Amino acid sequence: MKRYVMALDQGTTSSRAILFDRSGAVVAVDQHEFTQHFPHSGWVEHDPQEIWDSQLRAARGVLQAAGATGDDVAAIGITNQRETALVWERASGAPIHRAIVWQSRQTAPICDELRSRGLESEVRARTGLVIDAYFSATKIRFILDAVDGAQLRAERGELAFGTVDSWLLHKLTAGRLHATEYSNVSRTLLYNIHELEWDELLLGELQIPHSLLPEVRDTSGVFATTDPSWFGAEIPIAGVAGDQQAALFGQGCTAPGLAKNTYGTGCFLLSNTGGEAPLSETGLITTLAWGIDGRVDYALEGSIFVAGSAVQWLRDGLGLVETAADSHAMASRVEDTGGVYLVPAFVGLGAPYWDEAARGVMVGITRGTTRDHMVRATLESIAFQTRDVVECVQSDSGGALESLRVDGGAAQNDFLMQFQADCLGIPVERPDVLEATAFGAAALAGLSVGFWSDRSEVESAARRLRVFEPQMSSDRRDDLYGGWKRAVERSRDWHRG
Ligand code: ADP
Repeated sequence: MKRYVMALDQGTTSSRAILFDRSGAVVAVDQHEFTQHFPHSGWVEHDPQEIWDSQLRAARGVLQAAGATGDDVAAIGITNQRETALVWERASGAPIHRAIVWQSRQTAPICDELRSRGLESEVRARTGLVIDAYFSATKIRFILDAVDGAQLRAERGELAFGTVDSWLLHKLTAGRLHATEYSNVSRTLLYNIHELEWDELLLGELQIPHSLLPEVRDTSGVFATTDPSWFGAEIPIAGVAGDQQAALFGQGCTAPGLAKNTYGTGCFLLSNTGGEAPLSETGLITTLAWGIDGRVDYALEGSIFVAGSAVQWLRDGLGLVETAADSHAMASRVEDTGGVYLVPAFVGLGAPYWDEAARGVMVGITRGTTRDHMVRATLESIAFQTRDVVECVQSDSGGALESLRVDGGAAQNDFLMQFQADCLGIPVERPDVLEATAFGAAALAGLSVGFWSDRSEVESAARRLRVFEPQMSSDRRDDLYGGWKRAVERSRDWHRG
C-alpha cells in the first residue's frame, strides 16, 4: 500500500520536497537553498545543475526523514518557479547557459525592440500577457544570442528549451521526456492561450525555432515514471503546475470567482475565471490556470513585486524590527498610522500600474510619527496593493469577490490579515497549513493516480480555516484607500534614466 504523495517545490531561492499522507497532512519536509548569480545589476541567473542537485537532495532527504523509500510513494507532483528559462543539448542533456530567472531584467532591451515593432496588442490578444522581461520568450532569445552557434544548433534540432518544470521532468526521466503543461506554458509569451497552440507569429518575431519547444500536456495526469536510479522505484510523475497556479488549486479555488492571494516576497493574486479568458482592461494578465481531463481553466492574475520584502527592508535596511513577526505587535500598538503611507515601489510598480520608473515614498510624516507608525504603514501598504488588484479583478470579471483565500509567509501576520479584511470589506480566509503551493501539486498528482478519489477527501484536512471578518466602517475604509491612491501618485514616474 502506497502511503504518500511527494510534492517537489522548486522555488526561486530553494528546492523543497514535502510528503503528504492520505489525510492531506504534511509528514516531512526537506529543503535546500542554492546559489543566486547576479552577473550584472538587475540580472539574476541560476545554475541548472544546482537546481537539479538541490531538488534531488530534498527528495531523497524527505524520504529519509520519514523513514520511507520510493516504494511508499504513490505519485510525485511538481510545482516550480515560473517563467525561468533554460536551454540544453538534446544529445547530452547539458545546459548551454545558466537559467535566466523570472526576476531578471537583462532582456529589457529585447522587450523595447518588440514594443517598437508595435507588438503589444498582438501579444496581449494571443498570450494574455504584457511585453515584459518577466516572461520566458525574450530569455530564450537572449540565450540563443549569447552562446556561439546556438541559433544554428537550435534550427538543426539539437537543443531543447524548457521552463523549470520541463527541466525537472527531463532529469527525473533521465532524458526520456521533453514536456511541459498548460500553467507553465502560458507564461512563455509564445503560447496562444485561446487556440492552445504555440504562436507562429511570436515564434517568428523572436526567431525561435519550433524544434526547441516541449510537448504541452494536461496539468494533472501521468507524465512519465521516474528513472529507477533516483529513488529505487519507478514513481509516476502525475501532476505539474507553476507555483501560483498550484497554490490556486491547493486553496480549492477551482470554480469561477474564487480567488487566492499569496503573500511572499511579492504578492500574487489569482482569480479563477473558469472556461472564460477575459482580456484585462485594468492592467492584470490572463493566464491558464490548468488543463485537466482535456479542459482548460483560466485565471486573472495581479503580480505585486514588493510585499513581504518590504518587511525584510524594515528589518535589514532600517533596523526598525528585529524579526518580521515583530511587525505584528508594533503595528498593533498604535490606533492608525497617524496619516503616514508607504508606497514600496522599490523596483517600480507591478500590477496594475506597470510603472518601471516609480520609486518608493513615505508621505504624511509629522513630528508625531513614530517607528510603530512606519511599521504599520508598511504592513498596510501590502493590503492596499492587494486592494488595487482586487478592484481590477472585480472590474475585469464583472463580479464582486465574496472572500479572499490567503497563504504565504506574510499571511501569518494577524494584524495584516485583519487589516486586509477591513481594507477590502470582505472576509479573508487563512488555512492553518500555509503549504498551499506544495499541497496543490500533491493534490494534482494524487487525484490523477487515484490516491485520493476526489478533493473532498483531502479538503477538510487542508482547509481548517481562520476567518478574518471585516470590522471597519465603509466610510473609514474609503477614506484610508483614498489616501493610498494619493500616495501612489506621489511615487509615480520618479526615476529618470
Ligand atoms: P517566498 O516564497 O517569496 O520566499 P515566503 O512565503 O517564504 O516567501 O514568505 C517570506 C516573506 O514573508 C518574507 O519577505 C518575510 O519578510 C515575510 N514574512 C514572514 N513572516 C512574516 C510576518 N509574521 N509578518 C510579516 N511578514 C512576514
